[in-house]
Amino acid sequence: MANTPYPESYYAASANAVPPRPALQDDVETDVCVIGAGYTGLSSALFLLENGFKVTVLEAARVGFGASGRNGGQIVNSYSRDIDVIERTVGPKQAQLLGQMAFEGGRIIRERVARYDIQCDLKDGGVFAAMTSKQMGHLESQKRLWERFGHTQLELMDQRRIREVVACDQYVGGMLDMSGGHIHPLNLALGEAAAVESLGGTIYEQSPAVRIERGVNPVVHTPQGKVRAKFIIVAGNAYLGNLVPELAAKSMPCGTQVITTEPLGEELAKTLLPQDYCVEDCNYLLDYYRLSGDKRLIFGGGVVYGARDPANIEAIIRPKMLKAFPQLKDVKIDYAWTGNFLLTLSRLPQVGRLGDNIYYSQGCSGHGVTYTHLAGKVLAEALRGQAERFDAFADLPHYPFPGGQLLRTPFAALGAWYYGLRDRFEY
Ligand SMILES: Cc1cc2nc3c(=O)[nH]c(=O)nc-3n(C[C@H](O)[C@H](O)[C@H](O)COP(=O)(O)OP(=O)(O)OC[C@H]3O[C@@H](n4cnc5c(N)ncnc54)[C@H](O)[C@@H]3O)c2cc1C
Repeated sequence: MANTPYPESYYAASANAVPPRPALQDDVETDVCVIGAGYTGLSSALFLLENGFKVTVLEAARVGFGASGRNGGQIVNSYSRDIDVIERTVGPKQAQLLGQMAFEGGRIIRERVARYDIQCDLKDGGVFAAMTSKQMGHLESQKRLWERFGHTQLELMDQRRIREVVACDQYVGGMLDMSGGHIHPLNLALGEAAAVESLGGTIYEQSPAVRIERGVNPVVHTPQGKVRAKFIIVAGNAYLGNLVPELAAKSMPCGTQVITTEPLGEELAKTLLPQDYCVEDCNYLLDYYRLSGDKRLIFGGGVVYGARDPANIEAIIRPKMLKAFPQLKDVKIDYAWTGNFLLTLSRLPQVGRLGDNIYYSQGCSGHGVTYTHLAGKVLAEALRGQAERFDAFADLPHYPFPGGQLLRTPFAALGAWYYGLRDRFEY
């Protein structure tokens, strides 16, 4: 049987040691079968176990194999489209509920890290960096908007102040969010998986769900076993393929790339990011970066629509890094990798139920570290019969990409090119 290892990355190389878990080779029964051991699946499993459900998690490869073990590690609040867009799309009542949840994911992560003693280099503080005065204007409105929903740990920064926290000349100002921050993403996932097991949950690795037999008592089939469950949670996100055809039509896997330098040493690292905050710029195709626990610079950016793996990642991302930090021109790149996130047309998450017993959440479109943790809680609430918050997400409208499966990639690339131009020429 295929044995899929972690892709080579700084995170895989610095992961806390955990023995691989066995593949499913039996016929087992459970209350909830979770498909996918990324943050969505693990967060769902944890909330369900904490509420007395019996949970079995099926993972096609290894825990955190997907975006959850490869991402920039940035804890970013709210959704990939902000609450004002939600207000305009679905009206104030639903937006009120979604707005109240927009800052919960970061709190869930911190609570998990503390309760289960997860070693994942958690640091507080995230910066949104404005490259133009128009972007600075957006940050001012974003601060007002987030404060309206009760989020108060925000500071606007002018050009002088942002230079105190990021040694980069590209920014005209920014906003510091002290409830943002960063983590070693794979170690967070591994710690959450250990917490699942400590509560009696079972995780099978190298166990892809290959077929779902729907019905009153659904059955999930893997190559060598079956899980009979009362409920199924589909949490495969950009790696799900066509297991659930209804979900594939309204979303598109996209790749984004990350590089990691050699260790910079305390002194050089401190000159770049003196307070160890993480940073993302405000462009549509944004750059994001931060220091690792051992003081490397982890720098990500770029999007490949349709999720083809680029041949030379360093050639794409290193120039972006040097534009921000020319002083790193002689620094070696130790790791480069790509990972897939799932884009929806609205850039809002796709959440819902198929029949009575198959639940899903996917497609958070870029910013997903916090949302996926919230999603686990909201899915668990729905399975317990409290669906008000779940319904607020499930009622968000979603549409297929123009051009269908065949042409959605060039259409999306064209859209991104347009927004890239808008970023560059400030219109
Ligand atoms: C390179 C990169 C950088 C990013 N940076 C950030 C960031 O800094 N901040 C932020 O907020 N967001 C970031 N994101 C987005 C964020 O990582 C994702 O939104 C989030 O991790 C998605 O979690 P998930 O559990 O839904 O999906 P995933 O983590 O992708 O997990 C899905 C899992 O399901 C498994 N699976 C799929 N199909 C099956 C099947 N049939 N059977 C069994 N298992 C299956 C996969 O193997 C995978 O392990 C980034 C994403 C990428 C790719």
